[in-house]
Amino acid sequence: MRIVVVAGGVGGARFVRGVREEVQRHRPGSTVDVIVNTGDDWWLAGLRIAPDFDSMLYTLSGQNDEERGWGRVGETERVSAELHAYGVAPEWFTLGDLDLGTHIARSAWQRAGATPSDVARRLQERWPLGVTLHPATDEEVDTHVQLAGDSAGEVRELHFQEWWTRYRAALPAARFVQHGIERAVPSPGVLDALLDCDTILIAPSNPVVSIGTVLAVPGMVEALTAEAAPIVGVSPIIGGSSVRGMAEACLSAIGVQTDAAAVARHYGLRRDGGLLDGWLVGLEDATAVDALESEGFAARAVPLWMRDLDTSAALAAEALDLALALRP
Ligand code: GDP
Ligand code: CA
Repeated sequence: MRIVVVAGGVGGARFVRGVREEVQRHRPGSTVDVIVNTGDDWWLAGLRIAPDFDSMLYTLSGQNDEERGWGRVGETERVSAELHAYGVAPEWFTLGDLDLGTHIARSAWQRAGATPSDVARRLQERWPLGVTLHPATDEEVDTHVQLAGDSAGEVRELHFQEWWTRYRAALPAARFVQHGIERAVPSPGVLDALLDCDTILIAPSNPVVSIGTVLAVPGMVEALTAEAAPIVGVSPIIGGSSVRGMAEACLSAIGVQTDAAAVARHYGLRRDGGLLDGWLVGLEDATAVDALESEGFAARAVPLWMRDLDTSAALAAEALDLALALRP
């Protein structure tokens, strides 16, 4: 079975770890390709940083800090202290020493002419992951946030990372923009992975700044829906709240309720020009299943909390089962 997953960083990585586990246990011979959000990427202190890709890389290679939830385990911040002393990196963004090694390698390769896809391949050579990660696009189209409520005519815009990390998404956003996105195309690995794939899973990641930015790449939705492979999404919203995240601030900016069914409707039904065939909601949202079914979504209520490897694998199994049931 050829499985493709669309994902953001931390939530996406937990889910992909579950997919890998489920495949290893019950579906040997399957392949898993992951289309990773690149909207959070940015330049800092002369280094190219790809937070969602690195969350995937560290989580799937067992290098991530499980307690903190992100970054490398056993991390130190000596270099960061120097950078702060020079004023070259902001206090609000942590650059661990081990993590900096990744950023330096990425930047060195990119400066020597490698594309983000080339860099992704080289990083994965170090730690064979059992899945293949692809940046959504090789084009540099970082997400910026335009703030709401500014005085007439003056739009204040900041990089997504500053809005998210420095201001904890507390400044009301009017919109998210990616300058130059019209020039972007899906990366070559994405298109290869989608050819003849059997199922596509949309991870329970931030629907706006993770999945939304992947889908914003021109040609991406067409490539995802071109094949007969069923597309099944997993809700990142459980019981009306985004767990372990600040997705509310992003959803409200685009006028979508923080609600599992509302996110499904936002992605849209594939037969109406949207994305989804199927949608998994939490047991907490079981009452939404009938309405979604009557609208045409194949919906199921299942345990949605990814507490550990077993619960993540069980969630992945539910998503794959629903996709198999929807196969033409
Ligand atoms: P980020 O890029 O690091 O922000 O991570 P993602 O975009 O991949 O995922 C963040 C989202 O994952 C959060 O806003 C939550 O809605 C969702 N999430 C986190 N943990 C869980 C979980 O255990 N179950 C589900 N269903 N969603 C989760
Ligand atoms: Ca992210």
